[in-house]
Amino acid sequence: MTPEHGRRAVFLQELGVGAIWVRRAAEPVADSGPAVEAASVIDVADLAALASVAARPEPVLPLPVGASAEGAHAAWDEAPLATDPATLPSESEIALMDWPQLQAAVTACRGCDLCRTRNQTVFGSGDRRAKWLFVGEGPGRTEDQQGAPFVGPAGKLLDGMLAAIGLQRDANVYLANVVKCRSADANGADRAPSPQQSALCKHYLERQIALLQPTVIVALGKTAALALLECAPDTSLASLRGQLQYVNQTPTVVTYHPAYLLRNPIAKREAWDDLCMALRTYDQSTDPAAE
Ligand code: SF4
Repeated sequence: MTPEHGRRAVFLQELGVGAIWVRRAAEPVADSGPAVEAASVIDVADLAALASVAARPEPVLPLPVGASAEGAHAAWDEAPLATDPATLPSESEIALMDWPQLQAAVTACRGCDLCRTRNQTVFGSGDRRAKWLFVGEGPGRTEDQQGAPFVGPAGKLLDGMLAAIGLQRDANVYLANVVKCRSADANGADRAPSPQQSALCKHYLERQIALLQPTVIVALGKTAALALLECAPDTSLASLRGQLQYVNQTPTVVTYHPAYLLRNPIAKREAWDDLCMALRTYDQSTDPAAE
């Protein structure tokens, strides 16, 4: 193990996900072109680490003013925001916004019915000069209540995935979602936003991409991939993975959402392959000699 691998293993251990996402040194293969990192091995320790992440208690969440824990959702339901299409700026208006204007517009937006089930908008977070952009579908319950993307167990796993390729939340990567408000079903469970909701909200994400100008985009999950790549609803995630996609001119890698990986850890091997492809793409974009 190289010193770099040792540091990464320690870092991942501190994140509570163990040495799951370890980028191995490339093994030279004669006449095979650029070396490719091998996928990490999924073993018992891997599964145990995932289980420990998933078993962590949820953070204590703020309640509406005057609400008891039992009556929290009833309190939110009693005064839902009314939708108001006039609060959703036009695409051309959004295209002229800077970061503060864009964030203010999202905060004030009641352009679709997702405003009725949100506690607050989740704009995105991270380094606004980052060259890496990771995009999910939308905030879940925990994100909605904390106002930040990718928190909770899936966020912890994403942190481990980022660390494995040398990235760190709030340091050199930006995290965002296609929609900025939580989508919930009639029972209050998280659900994916509809294609119509994604299409309405997506102009905010498009402006985030234009302001950020990332070198590589990583689409996390089918909903994010279909929205970013403007694919038909019946397009499979499998058909988009494993080959470089493009959002306008920006190289885009499609992989699984970390919440899916928590439920299906066997898919981590494929996700690791995707991350390696994203890393190679980044390296080649910033240093063409790396090809
Ligand atoms: S999901 Fe997007 S379009 Fe809908 S209310 Fe929230 S910010 Fe506005």
